[in-house]
Amino acid sequence: MDHIKAAIRTIPDYPKPGIMFRDITTLLGDARAFRAAVDAMIAPHAGTKIDKVAGIEARGFILGGAIAHQLSIGFVPIRKKGKLPFDTIGQSYELEYGTDEVEMHTDAVKPGERVLLVDDLIATGGTAEAAVKLLRRAGAHVEGASFVVDLPELRGVERLRALDVPVAALVAFE
Ligand code: AMP
Repeated sequence: MDHIKAAIRTIPDYPKPGIMFRDITTLLGDARAFRAAVDAMIAPHAGTKIDKVAGIEARGFILGGAIAHQLSIGFVPIRKKGKLPFDTIGQSYELEYGTDEVEMHTDAVKPGERVLLVDDLIATGGTAEAAVKLLRRAGAHVEGASFVVDLPELRGVERLRALDVPVAALVAFE
């Protein structure tokens, strides 16, 4: 995990003052760290039958795509509102100021399919919680969630676990 953590770049005050942006593009560019991260995101869910990976825009697409390929299963994109071309269902969630919405194609999962949710980072857990609600409304079972980075102060992992989703995060930044 030390190698994975060291491969993540921190950019202070991005996108606004006071935010420490945890930039995983440096991890993605490091072949050993990228593979180690993908393998470690899968390992905690070994033994759980998974039919599909759902990745949250945008960095969750990269990690989720690699995980889906590794598991030889399909991938479902969960996108910001207005980006998907076919019929969608949406789920809004609270931001610090205002609301946002994620969407998924209506036929992206079949009722009863078992899904692993993937993103690069969990902060408040608001985005991931909306994704879980969306997947459940479509009839999917969310068997787990994997993130590279957890920001424990923001308690997003607890929020997801309160929804009965087993959560794995590889590294934490205080
Ligand atoms: P949240 O909904 O609060 O859990 O925020 C998670 C989403 O926002 C993820 O898609 C992250 O990529 C992004 N995000 C939030 N905080 C950060 C941060 N400090 N550095 C990088 N990405 C972040």
